[in-house]
Amino acid sequence: MENCLFCKIAAGDIPSRKVYEDDELFAFHDINPARPVHILVIPKRHITSLASSTEADLPVLGRMLAVANRLATEQGSPDGFRLIINTGAIGHQEVQHLHAHIVGGPEPVGPMLKRV
Ligand code: 5GP
Ligand code: ZN
Repeated sequence: MENCLFCKIAAGDIPSRKVYEDDELFAFHDINPARPVHILVIPKRHITSLASSTEADLPVLGRMLAVANRLATEQGSPDGFRLIINTGAIGHQEVQHLHAHIVGGPEPVGPMLKRV
């Protein structure tokens, strides 16, 4: 999709620190990591968000989970990790191309949400 940051990253038109690529998926280090391990996994094909995904996207969504699990172990979070898919305005999704954050590292990441 034109003018989509993550489409451009997946195409190699904008540089990133790639950690994985196959026919359907691309994974790269987050530019502003929240933890020692902070990797984004995206489908190469533009899907705006989890909310706009359809049944046809189920295979690629499943592969995102499997690849995320493998990358977390390989990239320095061997004893678990957190997978986050911010979705839409309520979910504070800033980039409008579906992405899963793999967050982890050697230390526990702490509670999921701060209570308000
Ligand atoms: P969201 O809030 O949409 O779930 O997260 C978007 C993520 O993309 C943020 O964690 C942000 O740091 C990351 N990000 C934004 N622009 C870039 C970029 O140009 N390169 C990389 N590697 N990460 C980016
Ligand atoms: Zn896109």
